[in-house]
Amino acid sequence: EKERKLIIAGNWKMNKTVAEAVDLVKGLKLELSGVKEVDLVVCPPFTALCEVSKLLLDSNIRLGAQNMNENPAGAYTGEIAAFMLKEFSVRYVILGHSERRTYFGETDEWVARKARAAHAAALKPIICVGETLEEREQGRTRAVLERQVRGSLAGLTRDQMLETIIAYEPVWAIGTGRNATPEQAQEAHAFIRSLLAGMYDETVARRVRIQYGGSVKPSNARDLMCLPDVDGALVGGASLEVRSFADIVKNSI
Ligand code: PEP
Repeated sequence: EKERKLIIAGNWKMNKTVAEAVDLVKGLKLELSGVKEVDLVVCPPFTALCEVSKLLLDSNIRLGAQNMNENPAGAYTGEIAAFMLKEFSVRYVILGHSERRTYFGETDEWVARKARAAHAAALKPIICVGETLEEREQGRTRAVLERQVRGSLAGLTRDQMLETIIAYEPVWAIGTGRNATPEQAQEAHAFIRSLLAGMYDETVARRVRIQYGGSVKPSNARDLMCLPDVDGALVGGASLEVRSFADIVKNSI
């Protein structure tokens, strides 16, 4: 029995019409309504938050968003603020996903600003970090993770850190079908936890949940989720269908 409760989140990315989102959530409710051992989160696109939030009112599944703007409100065309997410009872927000870092130029410093804004609105950030294949092959994994963890968590108070989730997502494992081996995942997670001990203290390090992300599927979920420092999963592709997401959850219990 682990001291940290597993948290498994589905990142739907830029997929699903409202009707498709509703179907998926209805299916997940049927499959997963009895699950109490794991915290469950779905992160639909913004356009589906309203309808999905209504379906989750009487559910053990919580709602997350995939990004947010760090400013409270105002002239930021095309952006979504924390208070808008709160309207739909969003509890979590993914920040600094590698796709946002790569395609939209998000930096550690920017992610940290978003994380502070999320906490100011009582949203729990899921902060993503992870090395590229090139960085791993050059032996720079720890240096990259240290820079990302220190930079992306900058300015968070101890209390905020305790309400923050970290997702270790090696970029080479995202959407590639190539997951980290249990040894690679455990090593990275233990390293991130040791950073938290240095930045905060041992209690924070022991309590913060660190998810693994990168080609998690029903067939590898058990071997990853049983690792001592892996406290859940951030699931992309396999979260788009009821069967695969439900099986990941069930295989993790
Ligand atoms: C992700 O994008 O967060 C992710 C882990 O994707 P996938 O599961 O598809 O690798």
